Order: sequence, then C-alpha cells, then structure tokens
Amino acid sequence: MRESGEVRSGDRVNAPEKGLSGSDHPITRSSDHPIRKAIVLLSGGLDSATTLLIARQEKFDVFALSFDYGQRHRVELERARQLAARYGAGEHRVIRLYLPAPAASALTDLSVAVPKESLGREPIPVTYVPARNTLFLAHAVAWGEALQAPDIFIGANALDYSGYPDCRPEFLEAFEKMANLGTKAGVEGKLSFRIHAPLLQMTKGQIVARANELDLDFALTSSCYDPSAEGRPCGACDSCLLREKGFSEAGIRDPTR
Ligand SMILES: [Zn+2]
Repeated sequence: MRESGEVRSGDRVNAPEKGLSGSDHPITRSSDHPIRKAIVLLSGGLDSATTLLIARQEKFDVFALSFDYGQRHRVELERARQLAARYGAGEHRVIRLYLPAPAASALTDLSVAVPKESLGREPIPVTYVPARNTLFLAHAVAWGEALQAPDIFIGANALDYSGYPDCRPEFLEAFEKMANLGTKAGVEGKLSFRIHAPLLQMTKGQIVARANELDLDFALTSSCYDPSAEGRPCGACDSCLLREKGFSEAGIRDPTR
C-alpha cells in the first residue's frame, strides 16, 4: 500500500553531527543542498509524528513506514496515513507483518487484556510485542538500502516509557552497528546507516512541547492501546497515561481528550 504526499524543500538546519557525503546521495536539489532521504517509522502516535516533523525540520525528504502487525489499535494506521499525507512524506508504505504465534501480547491477542491504571507496575508489561522494533528497523534498513536512505528515524523514548527493551539506547546503538555490518552498501562503505532517535532522552512533557513548536496537529495522532471502535482513547492504558502526563507537563490541552 502506498500513498504519496507533497514533498517540500528548504535549507538544511540542525544537521546531525555525523553528516554524510554528497556522493552517497547522487540526486541534488542544488549544488550546496543535496537531497537527503530518510526513512521514518510512523506508527500514528504522538512520538512518531513528532519524529517525522523533526526529520522534516532537519531537511530530510521523508519516506514513512508503518506496520500492520495485527494490532488491536488499528485506528493508528489511519492516523499514520493522514500524518504522512499532511506532512509531506514522499511515500508512505504500510507493511503487513505476520507475527509468529503465540505472540501473547495484549496488543495483538484480544484474549489478553490491556492493563489499565498500571503504568510502571510491571518492569516489562504485557503490551510488549516480541522483537517489534527489531522487526520494524530491519524493514527500514532494507528499504533504506534500496532507496539510498541510510538515515532511519524512530520515535523511541527511554525516559517516559513502558520499559520495553527495544526502546533503550543500547539496543539502538547495537542495531545501527548491525545495519552497517549486514548490508552490501554498509560493508562497501557506500552508505553509513544511522539510527536517529531524537526523543530518546526527552520527557513526555518535552516531547509535547517540541511537537507544539513544530506545529503538530495533535488531533491527527492516536496513542491509545485500547481505543473504542470509533477511535476514542481509553484514558487508562500506559500509553494514554504517558500522553496525559506529557500534555499536563507541557501545559497544553490534548484535543483528543
Ligand atoms: Zn488508552
């Protein structure tokens, strides 16, 4: 499934410290501003939408990647489509993943209840989906190698999060190394993969404030793990509680509540 949106251009600001040579990116917009493509993992939630806007602000042409992995909160995929179109993704792909059964995650198994009002109670809660970010990032690297887009953006957060091991900095650093060791473009030195996690060390309040600065339309984002059939958030799952904390800390009203 593909969707296209407007691709805007502009000057490069806030460049990452590990810049890439123009030769990695043969298409140029002008002699001094090479077009740099980035893959952005876009779930449709607040964090990934903010990450998309940060990639745009860093003057990447973004290619958005979402996954239908059988999640109960399917409304987020519709939000991802809307976000990709609104914020100018060059292309948006939704990949269907068939997770090995039994996944035993509350997000994919309707017989497992999504925990409510229990943020922080379990070190790794039952909403954990086996190896989810490993699977997502592997697809991003595969698309990135084909597109010559070695910059991969993910909205992982290691401060205000549910404790998932695949959101931690050591995982992301290891994955970046693996991407450079496990690709033709990486071993030939033609591309240097970089995993960008701009929200990694931000509090939820800082993320909401940043998103607000970047003019994110919060109403387009969906964070809830267990929304109603109409897509209304439950207000009590970990993701809803973290989102509420973020808006409260930032002093901003959440239009979805
Ligand atoms: Zn919820």
